[in-house]
Amino acid sequence: SLAEALLTWYTLFSVTSNAMDGLLKILKNHGHDDLPATVRTLRKTPRSVPITKKSGMEYVYLGIQTQLKKILNGVTPPDRPMLLSFNVDGLPLFSSSNRCLWPVLCATPIQGALKVFPVALTYGRSKPLDLDFLTDTLSELASLVRDGFEISGRRIAIAIKCVVCDAPAKALVKSTKLCSGYWGCDKCTQKVAWLGRVVYPHLNSPLRTDESFRWQDQPEHHHGQSVFLDVDINMVTQFPIDYMHQVCLGVMRRLILLWIRGDRRVRISAAQTSAISDRLVSLVSSIPSIFARKPRPLSDVDRWKATEFRQFLLYTGPVVLRGILRDDLFQHFLSFSVAISILVNPNSVEQFDYAKGLLKYFVSRGKDLYGGEFCVYNVHSMLHITDEAQKYGSLDECSAFPFENFLFQLKKLVRSGRNPMAQIVNRL
Ligand SMILES: [Zn+2]
Repeated sequence: SLAEALLTWYTLFSVTSNAMDGLLKILKNHGHDDLPATVRTLRKTPRSVPITKKSGMEYVYLGIQTQLKKILNGVTPPDRPMLLSFNVDGLPLFSSSNRCLWPVLCATPIQGALKVFPVALTYGRSKPLDLDFLTDTLSELASLVRDGFEISGRRIAIAIKCVVCDAPAKALVKSTKLCSGYWGCDKCTQKVAWLGRVVYPHLNSPLRTDESFRWQDQPEHHHGQSVFLDVDINMVTQFPIDYMHQVCLGVMRRLILLWIRGDRRVRISAAQTSAISDRLVSLVSSIPSIFARKPRPLSDVDRWKATEFRQFLLYTGPVVLRGILRDDLFQHFLSFSVAISILVNPNSVEQFDYAKGLLKYFVSRGKDLYGGEFCVYNVHSMLHITDEAQKYGSLDECSAFPFENFLFQLKKLVRSGRNPMAQIVNRL
């Protein structure tokens, strides 16, 4: 109907309610008497959203099964177990305050495409006080893994693929020390060192295992018992190192900042920075439309998104740095670029061991080139990241990129500071 088409248009293009009311008035004056007078009636907005309090924040539970049934509506149910990935992360909603949305997101492949949907929404000042905001999700998940659920007379089995978080959120939900803490690495038992900042000096430390985590073999790593222990999930191997946060926003960003603002030994000149920027900008017209963003100059690096660091690492960096960045630094960067190019490619499985060797070289040579303080947690985690590609098929199989895109869409559902939770739930 016209009303439905208008509603879709209103939501899709983030039209303001005032503008929509104005349009409805014009349409009504020109013969569309059956349309409602305001957008509020058009949306049949429920006047109250069942918001409760959890973890010191506003909380709404949407449900895994309810959401799965919604996305399976009109789709042939899969005949294999549905693999669910989860994401927990904080999303600042307004630049003027510290109010954050902490959604629990889920993703599953439906007919070849990954579908992301929210399971629970938490909103309030900075971050949840405790992990109560996860209990509904985890108890439903435990029962779904045990019993599956029924749709169109068929029982669908559910399995957990992984939980993707950035490092601070991962420490929060696993109840472990932060990666800046003494025993903070989630993959190995190394004790960090202090070189003006927390660094991980060693290349070969004993690895954590799912069993050693469950038994808390290294008590110093833990803050308590994670709520995830009640679900059938492996606490080390099913919490992968995240390609988006740790490779793109972590190591790649760090390298660029070292080149343009780092120690004199490795810093490039203003003229070199601008030469690299000129090359980047000259590529704009040649970037295919499958890329979400075009290259921007290095002077904008503080505003670069994860996808821009990814583009630099895999595609533009090896071209624009050649002949400008000092050769030893360039060769070192190339080892990183080549290794990650291999690990994001599911067809390069037989090269994964080579990538692992390159990354070990990248971390150890990085210490010689940039100093011991180079080996912060994100850099150190490159020693472990090949294991994720090996377990999941490629780094994109367990990255936060699809969740980040969905978070961006969630943010767009909030049009004013008044009651953001109700706005999101109604618009969802
Ligand atoms: Zn480690």
